Formats: sequence, C-alpha cells, structure tokens
Amino acid sequence: MSDDETKVLTGAGYTADDYDGDAHVPAAAALERLRAGNRIYVEALDHERDLSPERIADLFENGQRPFACVITCADSRVVPEHIFMTGLGELFVIRVAGNIVGPIELASAIYACEHLHTRLVLVLGHTHCGAIKAALDGEAGPVAAITGRIAEALGEVRDPYEASVVNARAAAAALAESPELARLMAEHDLDIRCAVYHTHCGVVDFLGE
Ligand SMILES: [Zn+2]
Repeated sequence: MSDDETKVLTGAGYTADDYDGDAHVPAAAALERLRAGNRIYVEALDHERDLSPERIADLFENGQRPFACVITCADSRVVPEHIFMTGLGELFVIRVAGNIVGPIELASAIYACEHLHTRLVLVLGHTHCGAIKAALDGEAGPVAAITGRIAEALGEVRDPYEASVVNARAAAAALAESPELARLMAEHDLDIRCAVYHTHCGVVDFLGE
C-alpha cells in the first residue's frame, strides 16, 4: 500500500499518520489526540486505523508505546479504541464494570505509566451505567464488590449524570493517591483526567480538573 493510500485525510484535518504510536507523548498532546479521535467518531468521518499485519509485527518486534491509558467500564457499548479512533498499540485499556479502581486496576495503571511511559491516564465513565444504577438503587447481591465501592464514592449523590462524574473522579483520586503515580505526576508530568461518555450519542465530555 502506498503512502497516499494509507493517509486518509479526514474532515477534521487529521491523517492516519497522526495517530501512530510514539514514545513519551506529553499528556496535553495525548489528550488532544483523544479529543480529535472522538470528534471523528461522533461525526462518523472516514478514518483509517492501522490494523495491518505489518503493524502487528512491528508492535511485536519493537514493543508497545501506548500514548494514553484509559480506565473504563466493561459495558459493551463503551469501546475506547472506537470512541477515540485508535489503532493497535495506541491505548492501554483497563476495563471493569463501573470503572472502579481497586488494587488490580491500580497495578495495571502503574504498569502503563512506569514501564510503558504513558503520560496520560483517563478515567472514562459513561451515562446509563448499569453498575452505577445498581449502586444508586441499593442493589448488592453478586455485584456487591463493585456496587459497594461505587455507593461509597457517591455518598448522597442521586443525579445519574452527576453520579457518573463523581464515580469517575473517585477513581482518579484513588489513582493519584498511589505513591508511584504521585511521583510520576510530580516528576514526569503524568496527568490523570476524567471524562464521561454519552452512551446515547457517542460524545465524550472531558472534565476539568
Ligand atoms: Zn458501565
């Protein structure tokens, strides 16, 4: 395939080449890639992502250099690689119902930031989350390990959108409290951000600090 064929110019002015993975992408640039990718997704613009055998081989031989770590829900409608229009090797994704952060999720995020040098961690909550609804409804049962943690984060919050925000911020706070990530934030400009995915339309709200 020629260079011209692999460069698919999108309406937003980005090409497939803009999304190639590279090491030590600064947090601000990583965040802008995610914003741009979501615009392409929402507007259903043509955008080629590199899922080629050559890319598979390159990532195997040279290793992965994901530009962002995304922690999000296991909900089948919330797929970060699609939502941000990324190809292989670009996102380090941690998925668990309710996008909660416990010891396992934290350890995964530390791996991405310490060993893969990812400089942006995004906690991506979403609207109409079943785990949050169960927590708001006071359901426990087999999912108590998740809903209990969410209910604790929500406190008196009852508005569903606000609950998505508060739950994502609680996960981000849990990440920032770890000594490993706190050190990377202080010394290597690691940024931990929150966002909420609108399940009905595909738009991502990037939340302020
Ligand atoms: Zn969910």
